[in-house]
Amino acid sequence: MAIKIFDSLSGKKKILSIPKNGPLKLFVCGPTVYDNVHLGHARAYLPFDIIVRYLRSLNIKVFYLQNITDVDDKIIERAKEKKTTAAKISAEFSDVYLKTCKKLNISSVDKYVKASASIKEIKNQIYRLIEKGYAYETGSGVYFSVKKFKDYGKLSRQNLEELRSGYRVESDPEKHDVFDFALWKKKKFSYEPSWPSPWGAGRPGWHIEDTAISEKYFGLNYSLHGGGMDLKFPHHEAEIAQAESLSGKKPFVDFWIHIGFLLVNGEKMSKSLHNFITVPDFLKRWHPDVLRWLVFSRHYGSPFDYKEEMISQAVNAMLSLKLLFSSLKTKSGSGEISSKVKKAVSAFDKKVKAAMENDFNTPEVVSEIFQFANFLKSLDNLNKKEALFAHSFISNLLSVFGFSFFLEKSLPKKIKEMAEEREVFRTIRNFSEADALRDKLEKMGYKIDDTASGSVIVFNNLEIHG
Ligand code: AMP
Repeated sequence: MAIKIFDSLSGKKKILSIPKNGPLKLFVCGPTVYDNVHLGHARAYLPFDIIVRYLRSLNIKVFYLQNITDVDDKIIERAKEKKTTAAKISAEFSDVYLKTCKKLNISSVDKYVKASASIKEIKNQIYRLIEKGYAYETGSGVYFSVKKFKDYGKLSRQNLEELRSGYRVESDPEKHDVFDFALWKKKKFSYEPSWPSPWGAGRPGWHIEDTAISEKYFGLNYSLHGGGMDLKFPHHEAEIAQAESLSGKKPFVDFWIHIGFLLVNGEKMSKSLHNFITVPDFLKRWHPDVLRWLVFSRHYGSPFDYKEEMISQAVNAMLSLKLLFSSLKTKSGSGEISSKVKKAVSAFDKKVKAAMENDFNTPEVVSEIFQFANFLKSLDNLNKKEALFAHSFISNLLSVFGFSFFLEKSLPKKIKEMAEEREVFRTIRNFSEADALRDKLEKMGYKIDDTASGSVIVFNNLEIHG
């Protein structure tokens, strides 16, 4: 097994080396908690859940760590607007975030750590950076001196000189350089959250939070670091500067994994552009797996535009698979599993593995699933053992990726009776009664497919009606 992952720093796909002792360490930047969770966040966090679930299914131990930014200027601003405290805002929205992840079946994170719970580690890193000569204190805070770290800009491949001219005038004239970023912000107003420190009461800057948390759990060199594409600069660039200055070693992490944006008319879905749909609103109407499918059927690194019709496409694709699973369950023919079916399952398995090993190419997996489904549909003499073998293989695969919709649930007795009654009407060619029953069943959330070998019915809870 050789899993290749695209590393944004080297700009290449590299082979992941799996630690023999201890887990594979993954750190993903969590949200800044001052507003609801939107579909752009789901686009960022679902792929990591899918990737970690897949790695674990290969018996690879993964430790997945995520921070929650609960100390930040935006939180303070929101608290001011809402005439409340920053602590209340961050407590409310970190709760919303964690509950939303749960609803989305994002369960692979081993540990969430809040910035506010890591102040000791943050201060310790700042202290060491000052000691090593990489940071300095001014009247407004403590800053990292970017000019001391020659590699600043290597991740985002920025020409700092060009960027420099576009930078706005500095609020702190004592700063040595416009790119110098705050490690500690001294308290100015009484409403700002603060902690005591050798540099006066204040709060941490954003970038130091992540390296302090990751150092505590992983040390200063580990395997995988992920986040949205927008975090490359300056956030991840700053993390590299902090960690490599502290350790004196390169690289800070072996792989930088960046997620492509969810766009709306070509622009990033974001809080600031007010072009977002919240996940709780989406889930009022749709099963969480619809969102997982939207993400799964696209590569994690590719941006894509959110369109309403994507939802019906996802729903149709998922329903057709569920109907296929049900029809496989109804096969009754006797006989052993033929070598043709065994070979097809094994070829399908290999193709899925190859796709996942190639930078987690989930759209390729979707295409393989449908090719395999079409192959199964083309076999009209599939016996019971073959059908169950194929069914369990494909449904296990989907549950590895975190889908729950495809899990078999037995139909309620009343529904089965209505479906049987409909079959009788079909047999005696009373199609108007049969159609009326179909409509009634569909309104109750059951989808029927009339195949050559009889009707199949499944519970369709992908769309939640009022
Ligand atoms: P924020 O709460 O805005 O700091 O974002 C938390 C994470 O979600 C970061 O990794 C962002 O890059 C990511 N993110 C936010 N909006 C989008 C989007 N429209 N598409 C993809 N990722 C996003």
